[in-house]
Amino acid sequence: MAAKVWLKEGREKSLLRRHPWVFEGAIARLEGEPQAGETVQVCDAHGQFLAWGAYSPSSQIRVRLWSFNPQERIDALFLRRRLEAALRARQGLLADSQTNAWRLVHAESDGLPGLIVDQYADTLVAQFLSSGAERWREEIATALMDLTQARRLYERSDVEVRRLEGLPDRSGPLRGEAPPDRLEIVENGLRFYVDVYQGHKTGFYLDQRRNRRLVRDLAQGRHVLDCFCYSGGFLVNALAGGAASALGLDTSAEALALAEANIALNRLAAQRVTLEEADVFQALRALRDRGRRFDLIVLDPPKFAPTAAHVPQAARGYKDINLLAFKLLNPGGILLTFSCSGGVDAALFQKIVADAAVDAGIQAQIFAWLFQAEDHPVSLAFPEGIYLKGLAVRVS
Ligand code: SAH
Repeated sequence: MAAKVWLKEGREKSLLRRHPWVFEGAIARLEGEPQAGETVQVCDAHGQFLAWGAYSPSSQIRVRLWSFNPQERIDALFLRRRLEAALRARQGLLADSQTNAWRLVHAESDGLPGLIVDQYADTLVAQFLSSGAERWREEIATALMDLTQARRLYERSDVEVRRLEGLPDRSGPLRGEAPPDRLEIVENGLRFYVDVYQGHKTGFYLDQRRNRRLVRDLAQGRHVLDCFCYSGGFLVNALAGGAASALGLDTSAEALALAEANIALNRLAAQRVTLEEADVFQALRALRDRGRRFDLIVLDPPKFAPTAAHVPQAARGYKDINLLAFKLLNPGGILLTFSCSGGVDAALFQKIVADAAVDAGIQAQIFAWLFQAEDHPVSLAFPEGIYLKGLAVRVS
């Protein structure tokens, strides 16, 4: 018999809308003594079944829900079916011969709370971020290898959120031999090295694929500035799109080394590119003081607001860099500006950018609303799944 989590009166509402989390504060009592990751039954204040979920004893998100079907058995077969569904949903994408790197599993939005799986050519990289995903790690690994014919599966469960679940960091090969130091992938016909050992996230910002494509389409003849350039995803696209020049800024020397290698890998004219190890907040001011101007600027900063409490400070950070970027744009110039902060939604972000334009004394129009790529889908029941938003803005 599964342990039973009784909710407080009225706290079943979010579950009736299929939201996949139960917070500690919604729980009236616990019947049984579930281990971390064990399947529990969640019921309303009257004992009525609501869902099956995985118990997380030390997280504020006490239960992450697997299924709202009372008949469901949460076992290896269930997980395999969910993984199959995630792959099926991406079938059209996976057939693209110009790209071989994708997010195969996007956690809650694919019905697999706490599980991220990215594919880089014949290598899979997984992150097990919740007690439930951790509990089924072996079964998930077996099913993934079976369903994808990948050559190896590497684990990068070295993420902050695991600590909230009381789980230690863990990375290493999970199936197959260790991957090479630098894997090579193709994205929209361009080649990139990916470092799955030390790289950010699982190695590459797959979520920006479509937006990088947009930069390529906009870059012809333009002087481009890529702020927070990491391994050069936007830079390589700008150069491939015919940029007149490109300047990439990042504080990480390792990221810049990879960016340089990626530019060379695509045989793009390196003389048109400058890479600078610099803090963007300072570098933008220095560029302004030197009177430098650009035609296309990309701002893709790290997460300034991991939680709602950081929002006011994050808003100041976003406004600062957007204001400076507006001042560096030539008339007719374009700004592609992003936020991957969960706490800052699209409406707030647009307002911050609008305020920055006013303070910069410029007029501008939005010509595209940008989001994470389609292999990072968002379940309608889980709006938290929208994390990357951006604006494409043209200055008049
Ligand atoms: N645009 C990239 C992803 C950017 S991730 C892509 O498409 O691949 C954010 C990057 O910002 C990281 O590489 C990190 O090293 C860098 N970074 C963080 N703080 C910074 C700062 N203050 N100045 C410059 N770079 C910074």
